[in-house]
Amino acid sequence: MNSSSAGFRRDNNKTGDLPIENLAADTASLRVTALGNAGFLIVSRSASILLDPFIQLVPGVQPLGAAAVGKNSSILVTHDHCDHLNVRAVIEAASCGAVVLGPEPAVRALSRHVPSRSLIQLDPDDVGGRADADVVGARVTAFRTSHSRAHNSYLVELDGFRVFDDGDNEHTNCLDRSAIRELDALFLCPWQGSGWVDFIEGIKPRHWFLMHMTEVEFAEHDRGRFLPELCDHIPMNPVALRPGALFTIARGQAA
Ligand SMILES: [Zn+2]
Repeated sequence: MNSSSAGFRRDNNKTGDLPIENLAADTASLRVTALGNAGFLIVSRSASILLDPFIQLVPGVQPLGAAAVGKNSSILVTHDHCDHLNVRAVIEAASCGAVVLGPEPAVRALSRHVPSRSLIQLDPDDVGGRADADVVGARVTAFRTSHSRAHNSYLVELDGFRVFDDGDNEHTNCLDRSAIRELDALFLCPWQGSGWVDFIEGIKPRHWFLMHMTEVEFAEHDRGRFLPELCDHIPMNPVALRPGALFTIARGQAA
């Protein structure tokens, strides 16, 4: 198991101020840190990507403060629901130099306080459509997926790694699987009825990460009871990271 909690510790609130640069990955690895709820920090040699960060629902735990986000970081917002977009914290991170990407409702919520040069609106036309942008060290492709009035899932290509964040997408069959093949990491919430089991078996990511987990659900998962309640069989072993935990992905061949 190539996971560890090195770098961040759940019982040390000071880690909230740890600069992201301290996590810099070498050329052969990608570092994934859980930030709480659907939030993850992904660091490669030349990119720092934050997915729906700064939502912390577990009392006393703050894996990453907005002030720790450096000017080479990019924040991807899937949609503007309050458990995915912390407007105040994202504004603070943008004031420290981060660039923010998201669909129109999220961009509108930020636009009064974030300069336009730091905001990138990604709005594919319809469900199934795509739009892309280059950010520091990475290429981001937004896929319009199904949830709320405007929801993006994201493919991120960075230093030869490919990761996909499916956010709160309710229908995995709206995604073109050929466009998201050979993933090193998939971030997915196992919504019932979303077709997620078939989706994972179809695209065969090297690793898939559970997200949108409560502490109660983590405890159920530890007992082996969480996923069996949701599906008749589990497609590969998921990675379950509590807020602050780190997982290192070594370069390798897709399955
Ligand atoms: Zn939502």
